[in-house]
Amino acid sequence: MTLYIDHEVCLREPCCPAAEVCSTKALVYDSRENKLFFNVDLCNGCGQCVQKCAYNALALFETADELTAFLTKITKARETFASKFISLLGLKERP
Ligand code: SF4
Ligand code: SF4
Repeated sequence: MTLYIDHEVCLREPCCPAAEVCSTKALVYDSRENKLFFNVDLCNGCGQCVQKCAYNALALFETADELTAFLTKITKARETFASKFISLLGLKERP
């Protein structure tokens, strides 16, 4: 089981409800780095953190392959969105 943290979406709340609900401390907020950290060795896969995040910044995956497929999908979606946005503004994409 592995947890994906979308650091672009995450609000980096010091009192992150998702980290607070994690009983094993697999998900913690680091105030020095101002970001969440995940320790796969401590995670029991309960999924409570994912349910607590109201911003969909977290996603849980059974295998590394599932995570890779997800990352490929969102990267393509973001590229498509960026391309359409650039086109909408009448700008040219870099070659
Ligand atoms: S609740 Fe979600 S968006 Fe807020 S800090 Fe936690 S993971 Fe990030
Ligand atoms: S799935 Fe459960 S154990 Fe793993 S990080 Fe989330 S709350 Fe913690």
